[in-house]
Amino acid sequence: MTSRTLPRRTLLQGALVAAVTVFNPLQRSWAASPSPESISLPPLDGALLVDPATRSAAAEDYGHIVHQQPWAVLVPGSVEDIVKMVRFARTHGLKVAGARGIGESHSTQGQAQVEAGVVIDMSALSTIHEINETSAWVDAGVRWHELLQATVPLGKSPPTLTDFIELSIGGTLSVGGIGGQAFRSGLQVDNVLELDVVTGRGELVRCSPFRERRLFDAIRAGLGQFGIIVRARVRLVAVPPRVRYYTARYTDIAVFVADQTRLIDEGRFDYVEGSVSPSGNGTWTFQLEVAKYYAPGSEPDDSRLLSGLSYLPGTVQAVDESYFDFANRLAPVVELLKQIGIWDYPHPWLNLFVPECDAVRFVQSVLSRTTEADMGQGPILLYPFHPGRLTAPFSRVPPGRHAFLFSLLRTAVPPTPEQSASLVAKNRAIYEELVALGGKRYPIDSVPMSRADWREHFGPVWDTFVYDKARFDPDNVLAPGQHIFS
Ligand SMILES: Cc1cc2nc3c(=O)[nH]c(=O)nc-3n(C[C@H](O)[C@H](O)[C@H](O)COP(=O)(O)OP(=O)(O)OC[C@H]3O[C@@H](n4cnc5c(N)ncnc54)[C@H](O)[C@@H]3O)c2cc1C
Repeated sequence: MTSRTLPRRTLLQGALVAAVTVFNPLQRSWAASPSPESISLPPLDGALLVDPATRSAAAEDYGHIVHQQPWAVLVPGSVEDIVKMVRFARTHGLKVAGARGIGESHSTQGQAQVEAGVVIDMSALSTIHEINETSAWVDAGVRWHELLQATVPLGKSPPTLTDFIELSIGGTLSVGGIGGQAFRSGLQVDNVLELDVVTGRGELVRCSPFRERRLFDAIRAGLGQFGIIVRARVRLVAVPPRVRYYTARYTDIAVFVADQTRLIDEGRFDYVEGSVSPSGNGTWTFQLEVAKYYAPGSEPDDSRLLSGLSYLPGTVQAVDESYFDFANRLAPVVELLKQIGIWDYPHPWLNLFVPECDAVRFVQSVLSRTTEADMGQGPILLYPFHPGRLTAPFSRVPPGRHAFLFSLLRTAVPPTPEQSASLVAKNRAIYEELVALGGKRYPIDSVPMSRADWREHFGPVWDTFVYDKARFDPDNVLAPGQHIFS
């Protein structure tokens, strides 16, 4: 819980004192009792909150850079509440967006915010409805952490996990969801089997590869533009209970990247990532991070797994832990960052997908201009995946056999608007260089985008994106914080 996050109890108390029943379309305001020009809200199972504390909290996210204050926050008591609210918004010209939780959105540039509209607190719907051999049927507000707590004791897990598992299932399915297993299993959106969606028309629709396929393809990594995901059937695979997690250091980026791509092609490990850190003398070191899952009694053969790799001798470290602790490995760091207050600093992140042919040159060029002050001790990630494993049309990554996630996870130090603005400007300049090379941005980060930028981003599927918007959200009600259609 961050200091800017409202505890659920406060929200519920807010519901008691601030729940509203009517909307005044002339004054664009809400009230508890009717006036001649007011319009009654449909009766809700949950509550619509308009108190200043809740609205201010909904104008926050992990970035702490953009603050768009909604007029109200819907804490839905049912899926039907979301249907009613989207229909009401459509009729009365309001904007709506789903968010992981009020003040708990992990976007860094206001993507889940709505200026003068309604934010839906998806964390209010967080039931795991069913877990079977091959899938879990869950509310969109369930966090991956909660799902894993239920599935890992059964020897099951979603095949691809994000590094941080406190993200909502609906939120990551709206953007993609990448992690160290993506080279094998694709993104999280490639591992969803069925979705219940409230479209921008205010219709509840079930979609899958076999039913309402067009909506299914639009919603996955659709940046919240076409509908609110209310439930998802997430694929589960069998996982052994233990993980051996190895790290090893490199000083030469070309050697590092060659080993990483070799490893994802050979599939020796179940997880392949990597990171970059300053070595103190103006140069950078590269850390390979790989993991092998195993059952007790079938411990991994270290020498076979690590053979032929060109890391610096003597730098390998290995840790054995449970599958759940491995999946939840960032929890202690996050707890520390919260305790010392850094979690609440601005985070002008830059998350890029770099084409393989330019990866070494581009990353070297960006690093040569990146100072420790530009990062504020935030980590830098660099790891490859196979673009061919991606199936959702709106997940935009460079084509080719391999591509790289390159993430500058900056913290603004000092935490001032000026420092944030300066880092966002640097992000924009780097992004423009990447686009010239055919690279793409992972749109969870802090890069201001024009309509022309979005057209470039979606490239050959832009016309489909626009067509699907007109079809599923014809009145442009949803997710204005992405600034694609507004
Ligand atoms: C510390 C940290 C670590 C991270 N690690 C990873 C990682 O390893 N891999 C990775 O891929 N990403 C990672 N992310 C980014 C994360 O995936 C995005 O921030 C993503 O948006 C999920 O966050 P959220 O659940 O808070 O969604 P939000 O930020 O609340 O929402 C994101 C977008 O989806 C929309 N949305 C939210 N819920 C729904 C819904 N139910 N239906 C439709 N639209 C919805 C919102 O309107 C918004 O446009 C990380 C973020 C942080 C802060």
